[in-house]
Amino acid sequence: PFEVLVVGGGPAGAAAAIYTARKGFSTGIAAERLGGQVLDTMGIENFISVPYTEGPKLAAQLEAHVGEYDIDVMKLATATRLIPATEAGGYHTVEFDNGATLKGRSVVISTGARWRNLGVPGEFEYRNRGVAYCPHCDGPLFKGKRVAVIGGGNSGVEAAIDLAGIVGHVTLIEFDHQLRADEVLQRKLRSMPNVTIIVSAQTTEVTGDGERVSGLVYKDRTNDSVHTVELEGVFVQIGLVPNTEWLKDSGIALSKHGEVEIDHKAATSLPGVFAAGDCTTVPYKQIIVAMGEGSKAALSAFDYLIRTPAP
Ligand code: FAD
Repeated sequence: PFEVLVVGGGPAGAAAAIYTARKGFSTGIAAERLGGQVLDTMGIENFISVPYTEGPKLAAQLEAHVGEYDIDVMKLATATRLIPATEAGGYHTVEFDNGATLKGRSVVISTGARWRNLGVPGEFEYRNRGVAYCPHCDGPLFKGKRVAVIGGGNSGVEAAIDLAGIVGHVTLIEFDHQLRADEVLQRKLRSMPNVTIIVSAQTTEVTGDGERVSGLVYKDRTNDSVHTVELEGVFVQIGLVPNTEWLKDSGIALSKHGEVEIDHKAATSLPGVFAAGDCTTVPYKQIIVAMGEGSKAALSAFDYLIRTPAP
C-alpha cells in the first residue's frame, strides 16, 4: 500500500508523483504507458522555457525525472475499477486489468483523454504530417496555408476562429445540416473573410502525396455527390474523450462529458481522491496546464494526509 497512488503517467501524473515523493510520502504510479499523449506528439513549441522539443523526447525526460525519486513505477497497468475506502482516512483500492490491486490512502487520478478520431483512410497515416488535433499546439505550423477544421461544435468553431487569424484559409466541415456551436461563436466565424463553412458534409478520406496531407474528400449528404478540397492541414475537432470509464461505479462525480469533477484544489467528490489534467473538468487541455494541475493535486493530497489520521 502507498500513501499516494497516482493512476496515469502523462504530464499530470508524473508531476503529481514527483511532488508527493518530494514530500517524503511513499508514492506509486501506475499507467498504461508513461508519457501519455505526449508520446503521440511531434513538435512541441508551447512548453514554456523550452522553445522546441518533441513528444518522445519530453516523455523520456518525464520518465527520467520520475526515476530520480523513490517512486514505484508500474507500466502496462490499465486501471479497471476504483473502490473507495470504507472508513475516513482508510485505503482506496484500484484494480488493474493484469490482476494487480493497489492501495493508496490518497489517490491522484490522471488518466488523461484521447481525441475522437474520424476513422477515415489517411487520418492515421498523415497524423503529425498535416492531420492535427490541437489548434493551440499546431496552428502556427500552418501559417499562411489552407486548412480544414472538421466539427462544427464549440471546439471546432473556436478552432476555426483561432486558425483563421493565423492560416491563409479555413474550411469548416460539419456533418449535421447546421453548426452546433454557440450563436456568438458562429457569428464571429461568419464575419471572418477567409472562412468557408460547409454543412451536411461527411468527410470520407484525407489524401496526401505520401509525405504530407494534400486534401480531403467529403460527401455532400444532401445529394451524395463527392467533393475534394485541396489543403495542407486538417484539424479534427469532433470531441475529446476522457479516460474515465473505469470510474463509472466508484461514486466519484463525473461531468456529463465524463470528466472528473474537481474543485480549485483538484479535489474530487471523494475525500482523499484528487484528479488532474485532461481527465478532469479543468478548462484548456495542455501539457503545461496538466503539469500545474498534477502538482496542485499532489499538494492537496499532502494537505489531506497530514490532516487525516489513518483509522
Ligand atoms: P495524458 O497525457 O493523456 O496521460 C494519461 C496517462 O494515463 C497515460 O500514462 C495513459 O497511459 C494513462 N492511462 C489512461 N487510461 C488509463 C487507465 N485506465 N489505467 C491506467 N493508466 C491509464 N499539449 C501542449 O501543451 N502542446 C502541444 O504541442 C500538444 N500537442 C499535442 C498533439 C497531439 C497529437 C495530442 C494528442 C495532444 C497534444 N497536446 C499538446 C495535449 C497534451 O498532450 C495533453 O494536454 C497532456 O498530455 C495531458 O496530460 P495528462 O497527464 O492529463 O494526460
